[in-house]
Amino acid sequence: MIAPGKKNRPGIKIVPTHITIHNTDNTDAGADAAAHSGFVRNTGYYVLKSGKKNWVSWHFTVDDKAAIRHLPSNELGYHAGPGNAVSVAIEICMNKGIDRAAADSRAALLTATLMGQLGISASKVVPHKQWTGKICPSILLGGKPAGARWSAFIAEVRQFAAQLGNAGAGMSPMAAAAPSMKSLVESPDIPMSLEHLEFEINHRQVRLGLSGGKTKAPSKTGKKPKASKAKARKKTASE
Ligand SMILES: [Zn+2]
Repeated sequence: MIAPGKKNRPGIKIVPTHITIHNTDNTDAGADAAAHSGFVRNTGYYVLKSGKKNWVSWHFTVDDKAAIRHLPSNELGYHAGPGNAVSVAIEICMNKGIDRAAADSRAALLTATLMGQLGISASKVVPHKQWTGKICPSILLGGKPAGARWSAFIAEVRQFAAQLGNAGAGMSPMAAAAPSMKSLVESPDIPMSLEHLEFEINHRQVRLGLSGGKTKAPSKTGKKPKASKAKARKKTASE
C-alpha cells in the first residue's frame, strides 16, 4: 500500500458508490502489477510539461498473476477526475506478454468481490471514460464490434458476483447451490471474501489468486521486482 501521508494518498475518506475500471496504457514488458505497485508507492507522480508534478493513485492493479492493493477502498485516489470521490479504481495491466484474458478475469473477480463488500451493483461498474471522456480502459473499450469487450467483461463480473452470492436483489438462492459455485469455492484462485485481502494488507501487497489462499509475502527480501523501476509509467499524465 501507498504510505499514509504520501501526496498521492491524501487520506480523504470516501463512500464508494462505483467501481472504475482502467487499463494502464503501458505496453512495456515488465509493466505488471508489481511494477505499478512500485510506481505508486515509490514515485506516484508524473511530471507535466509545465514541470508540475501530477500525483496519481488508484486502489488496485491487476495482472495475469496477482491483484495488488495500493489504497484502502474507503480512501480517495487520483485516477478519474470526478470519479475520484465516489469510486474504487482498478487498473488492469496490458504489458507485453501478459495473458490478457487471465488479467481480465482476475479483474472481474476482484470487481465482483468488491461489489459484495461495498454493496455496489454491476450497473455501477464503469469505465474511466464515463468520468472524463478519456478512452480508458483502452483495451476493454477497444476491439470490434464496439462495446463487445466491455460487455463481455461486465458479463464476467456478473457471473462472478452471482457465484460469490453477492449479486444483490437479483441473486437467486439457487445460484449458491449451482455446480459452478462448488468449483469456485474449491478453486484456490478464488478469494471468498476480502477478509483475506485485509489480512494481506499487512504485507503491503495484496494478491488474489495465490494457491490455497496462503500469503506469500511478495518481496520477502525487501527487494523490488526487477521491472519496477521506470517501467510503470503511464503514457498520459492527464489523470
Ligand atoms: Zn484510466
